[in-house]
Amino acid sequence: MKQQTDDYLSTNVLAWLEWLKEMGVDTMTKRRITPHNDGSVLSVETASTLTLPVVRDELGECTRCKLSTGRKNIVFGEGDPKATLMFVGEGPGADEDIQGRPFVGRAGKLLTKMIIAMGLSREEVYIANIVKCRPPNNRPPEEDEIAACQPFLLKQISAIAPKIICALGTFSAQTLLATKTRISDLRGQFHDLPDNPGIKVMPTFHPAYLLRSPDEKKKAWEDLQKIMVGLRSRA
Ligand code: URA
Repeated sequence: MKQQTDDYLSTNVLAWLEWLKEMGVDTMTKRRITPHNDGSVLSVETASTLTLPVVRDELGECTRCKLSTGRKNIVFGEGDPKATLMFVGEGPGADEDIQGRPFVGRAGKLLTKMIIAMGLSREEVYIANIVKCRPPNNRPPEEDEIAACQPFLLKQISAIAPKIICALGTFSAQTLLATKTRISDLRGQFHDLPDNPGIKVMPTFHPAYLLRSPDEKKKAWEDLQKIMVGLRSRA
């Protein structure tokens, strides 16, 4: 048991150090992160009685949009149902479609490293996507598909009532913030989730983009650090 725990810890610490090195971080200060809900004030809309199993039931074996015809599995989302931090990506890829879990492919491995670098684990956050079924050939989700899925994502957000949502990439940021502004202009600042000013949205680059453009990882790390500060604050 102790050996297993030690192995788990050393694997995670190594992943964390690896990510920090990639970010160009060479000094560290000791700091305690409190990832769980600290009772911060949430708007009336988010103080909901909805639960994730209720939302999942309502979604059912969804055929509300054309993505349903090509999917293997619905990727509903996973993590702590009361997470203070939620990540929202674009849509499942091939690996996610096969496993029915979000962010398990290459981009997912990078996201996991990012989460660990923040001092958290995947189990402590909640991970979902703008659309829950894989778009063919990994094309971006189309407007009608986003519109069909959006009520369910909003209900998940309502059930979880996170303090902060990290919007991963253009589609996530533009959909959540109801804007056409570019991700490079949205990232790095907190925005209010429309109609839910108690929930802050921090857009950052999508991990798949970071794999293609590693020079941008430094900016993403700055965004994640702002989230870490935001999670600790009582506001
Ligand atoms: N990319 C996403 O946006 N979501 C996933 O779940 C996987 C890859």
